[in-house]
Amino acid sequence: MKVVLCELCKVDVTEANLYAHQQGKKHRQLNFEREMQLKRVQQEEQSKKRKEEQKARTKKSAHERKLERVEKEEEEEHSDEEPVNYNYRDDVFHQLPEELLLFIFSLLHYQDLLSLSLVNSQWHRILQDSTLWR
Ligand SMILES: [Zn+2]
Repeated sequence: MKVVLCELCKVDVTEANLYAHQQGKKHRQLNFEREMQLKRVQQEEQSKKRKEEQKARTKKSAHERKLERVEKEEEEEHSDEEPVNYNYRDDVFHQLPEELLLFIFSLLHYQDLLSLSLVNSQWHRILQDSTLWR
């Protein structure tokens, strides 16, 4: 009579009795426990995988946030650039001879002249010119 080992129960069972053994309470219980164990391992692997995916996503978004922050800072730096690097003497209006400024001002409405006289002391002085106020 051929004897086989039940891997689950670790017992020798004759081939003729194998089916009966597998229907037995002890074997079915062990079988159930093994299936539950397998299921648990699968679930653990899945949740581990999910966590890693989530972690990767979070890492990515953190990286993206960092990039966005850098871009924003660059933008802010750029927007700061003009006033910081603004060179009063490079202003084309301040390279013009006063006669030309006077001519340009003469083309403007007197209400604009009032505003322009507040720009700086040079313009204020030029705008005092009585020829503009006719
Ligand atoms: Zn068994």
